[in-house]
Amino acid sequence: MNTLSGTELRSGATVPTLGQGTWHMGESASGEAAEVASLRRGLDLGLALIDTAEMYGSGRAERVVAKAVSGRRNEAYIVSKVLPSNASGRKVREACERSLRHLGIEQMDLYLLHWRGRIPLAETVTAFEDLKAEGKIGAWGVSNFDTDDMEELMAVPGGSNVAANQVLYNLDSRGIEHDLLPWCQKRGVAVMAYSPLDEGRLLRDARLAAFAAARGLTGAQAALSFVLSRPGVIAIPKTSSAERAQENVEAAERILMPEDLSELDRLFPPPEGKRPLAMI
Ligand code: NDP
Repeated sequence: MNTLSGTELRSGATVPTLGQGTWHMGESASGEAAEVASLRRGLDLGLALIDTAEMYGSGRAERVVAKAVSGRRNEAYIVSKVLPSNASGRKVREACERSLRHLGIEQMDLYLLHWRGRIPLAETVTAFEDLKAEGKIGAWGVSNFDTDDMEELMAVPGGSNVAANQVLYNLDSRGIEHDLLPWCQKRGVAVMAYSPLDEGRLLRDARLAAFAAARGLTGAQAALSFVLSRPGVIAIPKTSSAERAQENVEAAERILMPEDLSELDRLFPPPEGKRPLAMI
């Protein structure tokens, strides 16, 4: 069952199942105070996992995270991502060290390859494993990898140490349920659901609004509870509002009943066959 207390990774580490995204943070000086306050409020509420990337605001989102976790490093589980253009052996190290500087920390908890590029997977995995051995990262994973990419990854030396695959997953994008999600669940690879609110679009969906209202939930809570109903799935909604962080955390305490999930299947049908992995 998913609770705020956590999902166990293959490495044995336990990570919180509800976290906080940071895409678009750090993009304006005027928004920064609210972004830091929202992340800190999230930490107060147990939303310990903070997801960021070197790409977001070209390092400015990582700097927002640095302010949010200042003095509270031990409360946070920090995830960042390397761009595919930096995924070669030498560049991964430089990118990781740059991200650590931006984040103001000594070790990242989880480091992901943002999406697959041209560098052979074996080279990136070797670099990740070296960074892990040196203590610069606690674990590594990937993002936007479809099932065939995961199969290839598992076949390279060290590839089976992959801890997580971060992919698009929300009520309106359920393609992973056909094969990628069961594939990851079977092997204990955590699935981190990005854009669990479809970048906010789901909150304007009349079907979801009616479903949520009938159950005393907000649309955001219903959408997040759906994602969290899947074993081994971690959701990372982004909000720059402390009030909405509070609203989102309450989703983790609301368990949807089988009849609620059937109704969501009717409103937002699951895939009938294999579809290529959707991504933003
Ligand atoms: P989300 O689905 O998390 O939606 C974010 C939007 O929803 C924002 O506009 C936010 O506005 C709004 N929102 C959040 N909570 C509420 C609420 N309770 N009520 C009303 N509105 C709400 O989209 P993201 O694309 O940001 O995805 C989440 C995270 O996933 C990203 O921030 C990033 O960390 C990661 N990601 C990873 C990708 C990858 O390729 N690996 C790709 C995309 C995202 P406000 O801030 O004003 O509350």
